[in-house]
Amino acid sequence: MVVIMKQGVSQEEIDKLSAALTEKGVQVNPVYGTDVTILGLVGDTSQIDQDWIAANRNVERVMHVNEPFKKANRKFHPEDTVIQVGDQTIGGKRLAMIAGPCSVESREQICYVAREVKARGANFLRGGAFKPRTSPYAFQGLKYEGLELLMEARKETGLPVVTEIMSPYDIETFVEEVDVIQVGARNMQNFELLKELGKTQKPILLKRGLSATIEEWLMSAEYIMSSGNERVILCERGIRTFETYTRNTLDLSAIPAIKKLSHLPVIVDPSHATGKWWLVEPLARAAVAVGADGLIIEVHNDPANALCDGQQSIKPCVYGELMEQLRPIAQAVGREL
Ligand code: PEP
Ligand code: MN
Repeated sequence: MVVIMKQGVSQEEIDKLSAALTEKGVQVNPVYGTDVTILGLVGDTSQIDQDWIAANRNVERVMHVNEPFKKANRKFHPEDTVIQVGDQTIGGKRLAMIAGPCSVESREQICYVAREVKARGANFLRGGAFKPRTSPYAFQGLKYEGLELLMEARKETGLPVVTEIMSPYDIETFVEEVDVIQVGARNMQNFELLKELGKTQKPILLKRGLSATIEEWLMSAEYIMSSGNERVILCERGIRTFETYTRNTLDLSAIPAIKKLSHLPVIVDPSHATGKWWLVEPLARAAVAVGADGLIIEVHNDPANALCDGQQSIKPCVYGELMEQLRPIAQAVGREL
């Protein structure tokens, strides 16, 4: 961290601030210029509140030299994190292909879709039991019954289950029943939920918030990791922009950016990013090409009558075609399906 003092600040004030900073456990290296003095802080600055320094009336500006996230930072963990989920991995050479309906609707539906996507190469099943809907009058999910049905589909197909948690009250149940716990875009900054999930050892699929910057997203991962759970998978699912033609705007640049900044695996959700079923295929191909570690895709047996997100859901046969299109792209970037 670098602190730039205001012009003409007295030595006494500089010494006062330096002493306060030293007390916080960092080494202060002053550089005296002709007009201004700069303080270089060396050591663990993660515990020092930048705003506290900026509030000092003798300070002109405070700048971070290093990123504020530590545990998620590639600088301190150069090798890629690979997360083991049963006999599957996320972040390794093989792409994690997560597929299934937006929400669990019935035993027949979830088991049928699970069988269909598995036959076409998916290695994880998705399905929402607790749904974060914009309207309180919209279908809210089958809740605990939905979780039971997901477990039945897992039993039948062997596919590990990915499903969204909405409340810290359900953590115990999710830890018992689910393989990967999803934190949805709307809860990316629900810090109490993140801290509680950090006390578990379950893999957490952390979706990017609707309007979150890459740094805010990584800081949310940091909440989970600093609470004790380092098994975090990031998911780019599109961000809000001025464009309304698509549901969101898929930020493909976030994938190589995350790869540079962090060691955590990062996957892409082209379904929520675009909100249009026919855009899922081209953006899934692009996601694999830019280095995503996997894809989470909404697949429904009957999209026209889906209780949630039918407009962006593809049918199992389309999912099968997509898998075939992805194969040569995956191979070209050194991955496999
Ligand atoms: C979902 O995956 O069904 C979902 C609600 O996604 P998001 O949180 O990205 O909107
Ligand atoms: Mn959905």
